[in-house]
Amino acid sequence: MRIIVAGAGAAGFFAAISAKAHHPADEVILLEKTDKLLAKVRISGGGRCNVTHNQHHIRKLAASYPRGERFLRKAFERFSVKDTMAWFAQRGVQLKAEADGRMFPVSDSSETIIDCLMNEAERCGVRIMRQSGVQAVERLSSGAFQLKMERGGMLEGDRLIITTGGHPKPEGYAWLKALGHTIVPPVPSLFTFNMPGEPVRGLMGVVADPARLRIIGTDLESNGPLLVTHWGMSGPAVLKLSAWGARAIHGLGYRFTLQLHWLGGTGEEEVRAALSAENMQRKQARNANPFQLPHRLWEFLLAKAGIPAEKPWSEVGKKDRNRLVDLLTNDRYTVAGKTTFKEEFVTAGGVALEEVDPQTMQSCVVPGLYFAGEVLDIDGITGGFNFQAAWTTGFLAGRLC
Ligand SMILES: Cc1cc2nc3c(=O)[nH]c(=O)nc-3n(C[C@H](O)[C@H](O)[C@H](O)COP(=O)(O)OP(=O)(O)OC[C@H]3O[C@@H](n4cnc5c(N)ncnc54)[C@H](O)[C@@H]3O)c2cc1C
Repeated sequence: MRIIVAGAGAAGFFAAISAKAHHPADEVILLEKTDKLLAKVRISGGGRCNVTHNQHHIRKLAASYPRGERFLRKAFERFSVKDTMAWFAQRGVQLKAEADGRMFPVSDSSETIIDCLMNEAERCGVRIMRQSGVQAVERLSSGAFQLKMERGGMLEGDRLIITTGGHPKPEGYAWLKALGHTIVPPVPSLFTFNMPGEPVRGLMGVVADPARLRIIGTDLESNGPLLVTHWGMSGPAVLKLSAWGARAIHGLGYRFTLQLHWLGGTGEEEVRAALSAENMQRKQARNANPFQLPHRLWEFLLAKAGIPAEKPWSEVGKKDRNRLVDLLTNDRYTVAGKTTFKEEFVTAGGVALEEVDPQTMQSCVVPGLYFAGEVLDIDGITGGFNFQAAWTTGFLAGRLC
């Protein structure tokens, strides 16, 4: 039997290696459109490759996927974080967890992961063909698949695993649609917010942790560290919001008002009480800062509230204090545009999950056809979840159950 895997990224390598391990007598061919194998693995995690996330509770793990949560719950029961760790450990790659749960190879280099996958593919006899993009697929009456190649020629396989990753445009999925699959329209996920013209950008580099973000007019909200950048706002709180709100924010044309609670949700009364505390009264406004906000941020908010930094706190009037309370708990910024985060950017959308068996990754529409990785309508928040989905779905697809 000939098994063809189309797309040599994380999911494709895992699927091809798994196919060869489960079906050693069969031929496994891994096709790659470009010249580069595992290109995203190489640049991932800032060159360190955030391989997975240190979360062993399946429901909690699955809850980090804005799209694919229920589907992955079933898949994770068969191959989860501990299996990823064991898989790499058995091949000499130890993973370490950082305080926030992200897991990296102890070498802190994505090359370690690439070497491991390349060596394993070679060791078990996966045949890799570069510059071999698939243009179209036809299912023959025999049940086999005939692949029309971009550079000409045909290739036939008995089983086909598609691991071609995400695409920004629906046209990128046309050949999968032609096979009879429903494609959920792709939109970007994991992006940062552009705020052209907002003076807050002058605070570039400042982190508020935790901050609470809300998108006015929606029920989208997130909490966590916020980073001010020279183009707007980034950091985990923003990325999380962009992931959970990927489709809704797309619908808003990436233009909306962001409500920002700089203190992560501390009640207004508590904020007011802290600003009226006895020990504040002898200080200059500049040094008052009862919440230990970054100094530049505190001075920015004072200026925005119209309070001179050198003014003794005891002389700051009620109206000015109220304005400051409002800014601390209910600040507003205009977002106009997005930037795809250079560290981790994924596509929401792809092959509809209702048409794929979560235990085997086999198409419910075309027998013998399998999917794995980002080509599916699955995406996670940042932190190693996207690779975990690729390892899990790739491994399961390769079993060809
Ligand atoms: C800069 C960056 C950093 C990231 N860092 C992390 C991280 O640290 N941790 C994490 O969990 N996630 C990270 N991600 C997300 C993660 O890289 C992806 O979710 C993951 O790579 C998806 O794997 P995949 O194999 O499904 O798709 P891909 O990695 O996109 O691989 C698909 C492959 O298929 C090939 N292909 C496409 N069409 C065809 C065709 N028609 N025929 C043949 N081949 C084709 C492509 O050229 C590509 O090589 C990052 C993403 C980016 C962009």
